[in-house]
Amino acid sequence: MAELLRAARAAVMTPDRPFIQDAAIIHDQGRILEVGTYAALARGFSGPVRDLGEATVAPALINAHSHLEFSGLRGRAPSGRGFAAWVTGLMAAAGRGFDSEAVKSACLELADSGTAFVADTATRNAEAVAGILDDSGLFFVLFVEAVGHGPGRPYPADLLDRAWGRGRAAAAGHALYSTSPEALRRARDQSRRRGLPFSLHLAEHRDEENILLDGSGLFADILRDRGLLKGFVPPGKTPLAYALELGLLDPGVLAVHCVRLSRREVADLARTGASVCLCPRSNAFIGVGRAPWEDLVRAGVNVCLGTDSLASNTDLNLWNEARYLAERFDGPLDLAGALRLVTANPARALGLERDFGSLAPGKRALFSVVPEALSRALGRAA
Ligand SMILES: [Zn+2]
Repeated sequence: MAELLRAARAAVMTPDRPFIQDAAIIHDQGRILEVGTYAALARGFSGPVRDLGEATVAPALINAHSHLEFSGLRGRAPSGRGFAAWVTGLMAAAGRGFDSEAVKSACLELADSGTAFVADTATRNAEAVAGILDDSGLFFVLFVEAVGHGPGRPYPADLLDRAWGRGRAAAAGHALYSTSPEALRRARDQSRRRGLPFSLHLAEHRDEENILLDGSGLFADILRDRGLLKGFVPPGKTPLAYALELGLLDPGVLAVHCVRLSRREVADLARTGASVCLCPRSNAFIGVGRAPWEDLVRAGVNVCLGTDSLASNTDLNLWNEARYLAERFDGPLDLAGALRLVTANPARALGLERDFGSLAPGKRALFSVVPEALSRALGRAA
């Protein structure tokens, strides 16, 4: 039976108007039927009404980047000492193996904080993570990550044709220094051929830049010692320049982190139409600096937010990610602008606009409630 949801305000996030005051949403069987003011929709509606009172209701959130397979590493990786120290700590702790209970509770944490869709990345445990995600009630895309130089350890191509009840697989590349150009291009093409998004960690830290420019630095030495740079030839370019040369950036691509970009590179990236996923708390946790958030937004890049994993964040609550950014954003950012980063923009980046990203007829009837703390933080920033 159809239900009418009433709230003091609805962040509908449609391009023509972001908000409706004293709003109503009629939904049935998991889909939104009508959106408007309570006064207009209550007339002629005889079913049950759920009144959220003073709340601002918004579309359910989309977390554009996580690694649920690292959930067991919560609190175990070193914080604030840079990427080389973080990854060394992570490699030492990773010997503990896959912790399915930790992944289950991470999924609960996502759902409890208003997230309905997660773009997760799996390097080793794709099937196990997908099974847990599917059982959790979350919708998802599982980015199966190509990593390694030479023939390496390619994932089975048929994994990309996997679909679960609530999600499906897509291809990702780990990073420009860790994955051969051939493997990156192949993964990109595999996703493109299937009409799926492609994801890549890009320009996350200074060590990545040094490895690509001339193969120097502590992190390069660590990788070399472990045989992980065998066959790698530094292209002598910055991460963005190299990604452009490889033809990896286009509107179907989600570039994750983008901390190390010059102003000119932000403009170059904007021209490709690629989307960017910022992970501000992960970048701060690891100690790699912070992305040029304001330049990316101003340049018109489709910017999304992700929590990254519990190995580099304290929680998977995407509202906390948005609040962290809002409190530090240098310039005007209003509630609609902040909500776009966790609803409409990731829906566009991941090709989910039929089902997610706004409150409009036909979309999934999945909602979140904007926390008071975020509205307060934005009030301060404005
Ligand atoms: Zn990541």
